[in-house]
Amino acid sequence: MKQNKNVFNNVLDLIGKTPLIKLNKITSDYKGDYLAKVEAFNPGHSSKDRIALYIIEQAEKKGILKPGNTIIETTSGNTGFSIAMVSIIKGYECILAVSSKSSADKIDMLRTMGAKVYVCPAHVSADDPRSYYQVAKRLHEETKGSVYINQYFNELNLQAHYETTGPEIWEQTEGKITHLVACSGTGGTISGTAKYLKEQNPKIKVIGVDAYGSVLKKYHETRELDTDEIYPYRIEGLGKNLIPTATDFDVIDEFIKVTDEESAHTAREIARTEGLFVGYTSGAAMQAIKLLNEEGAFKKGDKIVVIFPDHGSRYMSKVYSDKWMEEQGFFDSENVASIKKTQY
Ligand code: PMP
Repeated sequence: MKQNKNVFNNVLDLIGKTPLIKLNKITSDYKGDYLAKVEAFNPGHSSKDRIALYIIEQAEKKGILKPGNTIIETTSGNTGFSIAMVSIIKGYECILAVSSKSSADKIDMLRTMGAKVYVCPAHVSADDPRSYYQVAKRLHEETKGSVYINQYFNELNLQAHYETTGPEIWEQTEGKITHLVACSGTGGTISGTAKYLKEQNPKIKVIGVDAYGSVLKKYHETRELDTDEIYPYRIEGLGKNLIPTATDFDVIDEFIKVTDEESAHTAREIARTEGLFVGYTSGAAMQAIKLLNEEGAFKKGDKIVVIFPDHGSRYMSKVYSDKWMEEQGFFDSENVASIKKTQY
């Protein structure tokens, strides 16, 4: 169908080509220009639309997926929503094993989108039979004709961003991007995008955002999995307690860790300053920029692109709930005294 009238065949035609939006206030005291790649503009409201569509279409091309087949995945919510959305349009069953850390809103949304959802305990190791990895694996083995997306260990995850997010950012910045700052979960977004961008200009600096309680930063520095780094944290979708093979650590220059508390306040600050209602990890990515700025990482003329992975509406019962913030003790500490809840 002709696209010039803004008319589309179905919702999947709207995936990708997300806008790059200049940040004007939150970075006004910093050197350089800051542009946010706002992935909430995807129809499923997150960057995960890209990988769901790409991986499913690759499986169709290879003849692995046939109409009526079942698609299985582990997910913190966003990938599940995107797979459920693609499954509806393409006529597949969707089964999702999710972490109990996921917000109730996200789980309800997945069920609304027709997915069958299994909620699995968050704080067990990946090889525990109760973990969402093991549950998904078992369901895959038990369900005839099923496809397991396996986003943490599927190189097509990286490839989806290599073919879409990377070229989009390169074109949108007319090749002038100097830094990419992006969260790392599966690592598909950061490494796929970075791989493409570095092929165009190897000088582009790529900074991954990791959480305290996750192993990614340490692994990047030592190439060893240090289990002492692992402890529970609040941010969903960022960091990991294992090493995802979907991450190409070689295209990432450095990792920076951010806290649950500061990321939460920064997510709120993005809404307040830029009018952009984005998710918790967008707050984490912006928090990383604040820390990098304090280190003097940016100079005049730099063009810094930060990826905001999803929409704020998914966190109404968490970061955007004063009650939740209070329960976490996020309004207590002195360093956030200046941005108390009354301002929201
Ligand atoms: N932010 C959110 C909200 C996510 O759901 C994810 C995916 N787990 C990420 C960031 C990280 O993206 P990626 O998995 O591509 O590293």
